[in-house]
Amino acid sequence: MTVRVRFAPSPTGMFHVGGARSALQNWIYAKQQGGVFVLRVEDTDAARNKPEWTEGILSALDWIGISRGSYEGPYFQSENAGEHRAAAARLYESGRAYYCDCTREDVQARTGSQYQGYDGYHRDRGLGPGPGHALRFRTPDEGTTVVVDLIRGEPTFENKLIEDFVIARGDGSPVFLLANVVDDMTMGITHVIRAEEHLPNTPKQQLLWDALGVKPPVWAHVPVVVNEKRQKLSKRRDKVALEAYREEGYLAGAMRNYLMLLGWAPSGDREIVPWSVIEDEFRLEEVNPSPAFFDEKKLRAFNGEYIRALPVAEFIDACQPWLTGTGTIAPPPWQPEEYDAEAFAAVAPLAQTRLAVLSEIVPNVDFLFLASPLIDEAAWTKTMKDGSAELLDDAVAAFEALESWDAESLKSTLEAVGTERGLKLGKTQAPVRVAVTGRTVGLPLFESLEVLGRERTLARMRAARLRLV
Ligand code: GLU
Repeated sequence: MTVRVRFAPSPTGMFHVGGARSALQNWIYAKQQGGVFVLRVEDTDAARNKPEWTEGILSALDWIGISRGSYEGPYFQSENAGEHRAAAARLYESGRAYYCDCTREDVQARTGSQYQGYDGYHRDRGLGPGPGHALRFRTPDEGTTVVVDLIRGEPTFENKLIEDFVIARGDGSPVFLLANVVDDMTMGITHVIRAEEHLPNTPKQQLLWDALGVKPPVWAHVPVVVNEKRQKLSKRRDKVALEAYREEGYLAGAMRNYLMLLGWAPSGDREIVPWSVIEDEFRLEEVNPSPAFFDEKKLRAFNGEYIRALPVAEFIDACQPWLTGTGTIAPPPWQPEEYDAEAFAAVAPLAQTRLAVLSEIVPNVDFLFLASPLIDEAAWTKTMKDGSAELLDDAVAAFEALESWDAESLKSTLEAVGTERGLKLGKTQAPVRVAVTGRTVGLPLFESLEVLGRERTLARMRAARLRLV
């Protein structure tokens, strides 16, 4: 039997990191089993779907390595509406489903409780199809439904506690629960690997598989992803969109490595490992069923390590969207023609060791590309104290006299200026840094001045000096 798995996102919003995690787990499982990964877009909720969400999912998958053309699909659930209706009709004809026109109020009035499920009123009343008649599945009165789940063992559900649930609405349209089963069935899916949120649906879905006469798939419900307060990650509260992480400058390699650690770990004491090791070592059966904590701080640290491990040329390439303003939310604060690739290449190795996410490149190098630096006023006030004006005067004079404009000469010259005033290098450097870069922190100062060049450095120092009059 060929293993066939599927990833079945609903295009109702930005692509959730939890979804990306499930997609990767499916992807690796298929690969390990010599199986097939199917992508099915579950687009039947017309009111909430947007084509751009579908495109977003496809490109986000592509980004983390599930590339277009390397899987089966995408299929679209909406294209299978005929199959869904045919399955509903088969269930009705075989007596496994029946029509019902009860309103919620009717049921409440009979059961005396708003919490009780449907009471089976129409089970044997022979109501036929018609407008406003919903189709309900006749769940067995007795016995249990045992779900075989690679991660959770065999969760067992008592059939008598499962109400006769609706499978097609009053307008005849099949509900998601049925459509999802029918698609898995028609697509020959053997393993359903999906988020824990769907576990409560699973006994109902398995009953549908049985009633339609097809052997159910093996299930694997992967753990819910939570924030630091142990709340399920929600798009209203937490940063959940894979696209948002991408735009902030997370590397795809770091992201997918981190996502695979949600509920699983490679052998040894390792967390940062090559993708090939994950593909070898990952075992779906080893995934911890408890909620998995999405730790953004840890992800940032991870990303920093991935950034540092890049060959410099790749780092330079990876920074381009933020430097040239393509594909990022915020274009850089300089004009395209102000960007200087050579100057960037000169400081790139210094910047590479300092970033946690690639978007941080912008405040680190903006001083190189802007006609005048963006002054951080708080940093200015904190740094420019009594004596700063004189210090800048001395520094300008000393720099003007320099024969060679290189980091080492700049450093020893400024150090000497400070020593004369009884200042350590750190204190001497601070006003110069703010004058030239606008900030108190950044790349190593003297290398920065070397790359910025004599003219621009001196002009900025003089401009700062004038402001201090
Ligand atoms: N479309 C469903 C979702 O996005 C997935 C259902 C499933 O994987 O069975 O949550």
